[in-house]
Amino acid sequence: MTNGRSRFCTDEEVPGRILSVLRDARKYAILVTPYLGLWPHAEDAIVVAVKNRVDVKVILRADPQVLNSEDVQWLLLNKVKVATVEGLHAKIYLNEAAVVVSSMNLTRASTQASLDFALTLHDDADTEAVREYVTRTVVALAQPVTAGKVVMNEVRKMFNHAGKSDRGHCVRCGTDIDLDPSRPLCPDCYDVWAAYKNPEYAEKVCHSCGRSATTSYAKPLCSTCYRSLR
Ligand SMILES: [Zn+2]
Ligand SMILES: [Zn+2]
Repeated sequence: MTNGRSRFCTDEEVPGRILSVLRDARKYAILVTPYLGLWPHAEDAIVVAVKNRVDVKVILRADPQVLNSEDVQWLLLNKVKVATVEGLHAKIYLNEAAVVVSSMNLTRASTQASLDFALTLHDDADTEAVREYVTRTVVALAQPVTAGKVVMNEVRKMFNHAGKSDRGHCVRCGTDIDLDPSRPLCPDCYDVWAAYKNPEYAEKVCHSCGRSATTSYAKPLCSTCYRSLR
C-alpha cells in the first residue's frame, strides 16, 4: 500500500475501495457499518482475509433485524468477530495501514443505487483521530455477538413450527434442559464451565437434537441442526 495522499472516490468506485481494506489487510480489519447485506465479492474478500489470518471484526448497529440476518450467521460461521453498538451511524473501514471513511453501509443495495463517497486516508496524523475514535469509542462500546444469541430466536421459531417441545440438551452431559442456545449447559456443567468461561471449549452433544457432535458454548448446535435453520 502506498503511503501519503488521501484519495476521494464516489459511487461505483466506493465498494471496491471498501473491499480493498480487507484485501490489503495483513493483521486486522475493522468494518464499522450500521447495516449489513453481503454480496459475493464482499464475502470472497472476507473469506480470503480470514484464511490469511487477518483478524476481521464487523461492528453493526444493535438492531434485532440486523442481528437476526443470515449475513450475521454467515460471518460467525466464517470466524469473523461480530459486535453491536446502540445508535451506530458511522461507516468506517480500517486496517493496520489505512482508514476509509465513507457514507456507504456494507450492503449490496448501496453498491447499486445510492450516491456514496469514500475517502481513503493513509497512515499519518489524519488517521490517528479516526483510529482513536474507532478503538476508544466504537470498539469500547461494542457488545460481542455469539452464535448462540443469534440462533436462539431461529431455533424457537423452528421448533414452534414443527410443534416440538422446547426441550434441549446440555452440550456437555446431554441431560434434558430448556431449549435456549444462549444457555446450552445444565446448572452443574455450567458451574464447571464458568471457572474458565471459554466459549470455544469443545463439548460433546448437540443442544438441539441431543446427538453426539463437536459443539461449544458459543456454537451449541451440530452442523445438521445449524444448517436446518438457514
Ligand atoms: Zn450438563
Ligand atoms: Zn443437532
